[in-house]
Amino acid sequence: MHGLMMDYPLTVDRILEHAYRMYPTRRISTKMPDGHMHRYTYANLYSRVKRLANALGQLGVAQGDRVGTFAWNNYQHMELYFAIPCSGAVCHTLNIRLFPEQLAYIINHAEDKVIFADGTLVPMLERIADEIPAVETFVIFNAQPGQEIKLPNVVAYEDLIAAADEDYTWPVKDELTAMGLCYTSGTTGNPKGVLYSHRSLFLHTMGENQATALGLTPSDIVLPVVPQFHAMAWGLPYAAAMAGAELVMPGPHLNGPALAELIESEKVTIPAGVPTIWTALYQELRTNPRNLSHVRSLVVGGSAMPRGLIAAYERELGISVLHAWGMTELSPLGTVALLQTQHSTLSEDDRLDIKATQGYPIAGVELRIVNDMGEELPWDGTTMGEVQVRGAWVTNGYYKVERTPDQFTADGWFRTGDVATVSSDGYLQLTDRTKDLVKSGGEWISSVALENALMAHPDVHEAAVIAVPDERWSERPLACVVLVPDADTITEADLLEYLAPEFERFWLPDHIVFLSEIPKTSVGKFDKKVLRARHAAGELA
Ligand code: ADP
Repeated sequence: MHGLMMDYPLTVDRILEHAYRMYPTRRISTKMPDGHMHRYTYANLYSRVKRLANALGQLGVAQGDRVGTFAWNNYQHMELYFAIPCSGAVCHTLNIRLFPEQLAYIINHAEDKVIFADGTLVPMLERIADEIPAVETFVIFNAQPGQEIKLPNVVAYEDLIAAADEDYTWPVKDELTAMGLCYTSGTTGNPKGVLYSHRSLFLHTMGENQATALGLTPSDIVLPVVPQFHAMAWGLPYAAAMAGAELVMPGPHLNGPALAELIESEKVTIPAGVPTIWTALYQELRTNPRNLSHVRSLVVGGSAMPRGLIAAYERELGISVLHAWGMTELSPLGTVALLQTQHSTLSEDDRLDIKATQGYPIAGVELRIVNDMGEELPWDGTTMGEVQVRGAWVTNGYYKVERTPDQFTADGWFRTGDVATVSSDGYLQLTDRTKDLVKSGGEWISSVALENALMAHPDVHEAAVIAVPDERWSERPLACVVLVPDADTITEADLLEYLAPEFERFWLPDHIVFLSEIPKTSVGKFDKKVLRARHAAGELA
């Protein structure tokens, strides 16, 4: 219509151009496999992305082709994050922690034409080379000098870039072009592909940068510990580029001491990762205190951050925690637990309660909770229902899979499979995933609530609660607990007594078993599938 706004396609190259124009000297620093820091700027990134985009064309990558990445968080992965979509292809981030058969499955399912891989990870690809015959070329960076690579059609990344022209015109004109492909980590079955568009990515990036969300600025230094293969590192590489924030990439150095060192020496303001990472960092900081006063927000998501751990960071270490909820299917950001004006008069304890929720939906995402009949439930902080979402960066169906009623409602909302309450001011509190809920005698018991309460005990390092079959009640909760070192005098009875005042009697686990570790999924979540299997095999008796 005449006089209406411009039709301005929201494409990823616009983010890169903005970073180049506005923040050419802001840095991207990577801790390389040998431990040294590689540093360069958004201007350097820009010129290498243009060369890489040309090189992709020379490798025969056409519009819409899927290109795999198999890498740690580093500057090369950042270059691929831009060059692949900005040349019209689809960046398929491969999860380096998948089992070989799952890895081969997603490469074949996506029909990846080229795979870019880190030299340190090549052995995992060599193992499945025979099962992924459709991959035409493997491009390798960070190979060891003299490393022999047993893959067909190998090209060295730096040779490719050196030989390519820097002159390149961005070809993507339609914002509904696919730009990225992420498979869910398979916590609940076979991995399923989620295909992002340029438009959804652009809007997610703006959504994440709202002041009422993560709100990155040019004075931020962001450390994505969350892998670039896990829901695109929660969109942080793009959000940082758009905001002119600096990036610190940890490469393969992900243990507590290495992260503590990196956060301190690089003066990181926003580290982001899953709770298991922050548990390890906390243990480290307790033994080796460091000055981390520059951290303005420790971002955590992917699983519930126990309230006790949030309290420990805030009270003991003076580090503010920002708890967020999302899903691969939501690009991934859905909710954030920032405090709002109405919370300013609350006690510190009440404020911690709010920070331990999953938070409110950010603008661009709508959510509701519904019962089994599909009826919307009230936001009263106590009624539990299935969380359903819709929005500008929510998936419309899995890649090459038929839409089914268990994924989407008839009126077009995405069914998350999470169960939660929502408070009157819109804060979501996750009680479980549908399949992790303990259904005891017709009532629901939240495994997450029990886990959080157990992990608030000073002697408990980690706790995972699973439903185990029960003749009388149909299911009963079983708690698997890992104690902190030196806590070996604590007993099952002590922990049950500790839980008793907080829960109705029937919520209390029938048994607590002590383990040396909780098995984790490929993205660091408690792997309850494995625990259930161990229980079924009689190993947790
Ligand atoms: P996968 O589905 O393979 O585990 P995702 O990382 O996409 O991979 O997982 C999304 C799920 O993770 C959510 O549906 C939710 O169950 C869980 N989750 C994410 N963030 C949180 C959080 N802050 N608290 C509790 N659970 C979370």
